[in-house]
Amino acid sequence: MSGLDKSQLIALLEYPRRRILQSMELRYCPHAGFYNPTDMECINCHQGMECTWMNHNDETIAVERKTVEDLKQQLLVAVDFIDSSLTPHHLSRRNCECENCIWLRKVQQTLNM
Ligand SMILES: [Zn+2]
Repeated sequence: MSGLDKSQLIALLEYPRRRILQSMELRYCPHAGFYNPTDMECINCHQGMECTWMNHNDETIAVERKTVEDLKQQLLVAVDFIDSSLTPHHLSRRNCECENCIWLRKVQQTLNM
């Protein structure tokens, strides 16, 4: 039981989706970003985490059919990703207004972290 609104969580997935896609070097991907769990190239790929995430949360995937718990998990993975892409400069500023920090704060408020 949780008071979380699914559509709220889905809306929050939009930002990391854009960011992760930007960070991926799809030019070098022989599968154009479609993760194949049986392909050695995919398993050993340095973009494995981003790629797996994208393939779970892409717009073409029916995220609205996921449970709140699933969506929360995916958001937490995205938080790790965005968090690790930030320089310490952001983290030391309590009220940083860049879109990364704004998004992180929004997720924290929504998930009540
Ligand atoms: Zn920032």
